[in-house]
Amino acid sequence: MTTKPVHVVGGGLAGSEAAWQLAEAGVPVVLHEMRPVRKTDAHQTDHLAELVCSNSFRADDWAGNAVGLLHAEMRKLGSLIMASGDANQVPAGGALAVDRDGFSAAVTKALHEHPLIEIARGEIAGLPSPEWDNVIVATGPLTSAPLADAIRQLTDERALAFFDAIAPIVHRDSIDMNVAWFQSRYDKVGPGGNGADYINCPMTKDQYDAFVTALIEGEKVDFKEWETSTPYFDGCLPVEVMAERGHETLRHGPMKPVGLTNPHNPTVKPYAIVQLRQDNKLGTLYNIVGFQTKLKHGAQQRVFRTIPGLENAEFARLGGLHRNTFLNSPKLLDQQLRLRAQPRLRFAGQMTGCEGYVESASVGLIAGLYAAANARGQELTAPPATTALGSLLGHITGGHIETIDSGPRSFQPMNINFGLFPPLASPPTKKPDGSRLRGNEKTVAKKQAMSARALADLDRWIADHIRVAAAA
Ligand SMILES: Cc1cc2nc3c(=O)[nH]c(=O)nc-3n(C[C@H](O)[C@H](O)[C@H](O)COP(=O)(O)OP(=O)(O)OC[C@H]3O[C@@H](n4cnc5c(N)ncnc54)[C@H](O)[C@@H]3O)c2cc1C
Repeated sequence: MTTKPVHVVGGGLAGSEAAWQLAEAGVPVVLHEMRPVRKTDAHQTDHLAELVCSNSFRADDWAGNAVGLLHAEMRKLGSLIMASGDANQVPAGGALAVDRDGFSAAVTKALHEHPLIEIARGEIAGLPSPEWDNVIVATGPLTSAPLADAIRQLTDERALAFFDAIAPIVHRDSIDMNVAWFQSRYDKVGPGGNGADYINCPMTKDQYDAFVTALIEGEKVDFKEWETSTPYFDGCLPVEVMAERGHETLRHGPMKPVGLTNPHNPTVKPYAIVQLRQDNKLGTLYNIVGFQTKLKHGAQQRVFRTIPGLENAEFARLGGLHRNTFLNSPKLLDQQLRLRAQPRLRFAGQMTGCEGYVESASVGLIAGLYAAANARGQELTAPPATTALGSLLGHITGGHIETIDSGPRSFQPMNINFGLFPPLASPPTKKPDGSRLRGNEKTVAKKQAMSARALADLDRWIADHIRVAAAA
């Protein structure tokens, strides 16, 4: 077993959790954090694990909510982020919200006091030293430019930091297929496709006119001043900006009604068509093609549910636009979150393509466990795909499918959601009293069954892999 320390770069949500997991596994750590020597545009303090915006870890209901399930799984694995959140909870209904200063002070104190952790304040301004053979890079959405540039050169990607224009993602089973239909434009069979790869939603002229007006009038999120110097990702414009450029612009762009025939009404040509494209291998999630947007979340739900077929759409992720730094992970990282081009570098946190405080910390947790196993000369089996941790890692390292057509890279950061989980072999259909489950009851029962399956599978994984490693 090596006694060389693992170097963790970035003391945010992911890096702090990774350092904790390593140290608790008996592996020495040097945690490099550039603040306060070098600041970011969003962080305000020199605390580790600072929450840059909201103070919420979102729903804490493990049985009915995917992020609540992730909380439960992280608690089972001794997460410092969850323990510090629980100890600094403030009232917020069913959500876990925290006193932000108390929370990050608790994380900072625990890491400072751990005998196996050294905290080095300073920027890693380029690739980490070649002498460090086990490194976790967790520098987050606001990674400093010299490090981001060095990683970009190593990965041969065109960009790492950009204005991220994210399109909304819809749960497939919430789309009304009595209105929508499967078909690729001109029935074209692309690589990996079968000629019926898209879900199409038709619009009449009146519906299109009203939709364009609603897009233009919908409430938008303002740019922060420091965001104005970052370019749009691959020149991809928000849908409402396209709408503002001309009433017909969308009909000649993402909503063009050509090469498609509505089987529900074959003799009537739709005036415009909205297309959704499969987003994960399971086929449970679809993104709305070309609908990256700066509309506020409430406005998105209201306006996008006016699209025929999407009246009852459930969104796995709403669109958004903010500066971000993340890797094209399915292509660049291996199953153990290591950079294929230089496997001594492992990535964690938002840089890997997860979204949110809890998700970032959870990927930090797993990266810490993976790196600890490597430090012992072992390799840790990934958590089961049925768990929240496993399904999030699956999205990052391979669950996402590339666009069927050529175009801008399609992998985008994602919050945990039940659409990332493998479906149940036999979903519940009846209540304990034998009567049939209907409507929302059925959805709730399905989520509860997925959550119960996740926790049972995680317990087995911990017993088989984590406790065994600790005892070795
Ligand atoms: C403006 C903004 C608002 C957000 N609001 C929310 C929200 O409300 N809710 C939510 O869930 N998520 C939010 N996010 C996303 C949030 O940043 C992530 O969810 C989370 O903080 C990411 O965790 P992380 O550990 O990957 O990165 P961070 O928590 O950002 O940690 C990265 C750390 O690395 C350090 N660092 C960067 N470069 C270097 C370097 N070269 N050398 C050494 N250290 C370095 C940084 O100082 C930072 O401490 C927001 C993001 C941004 C940018």
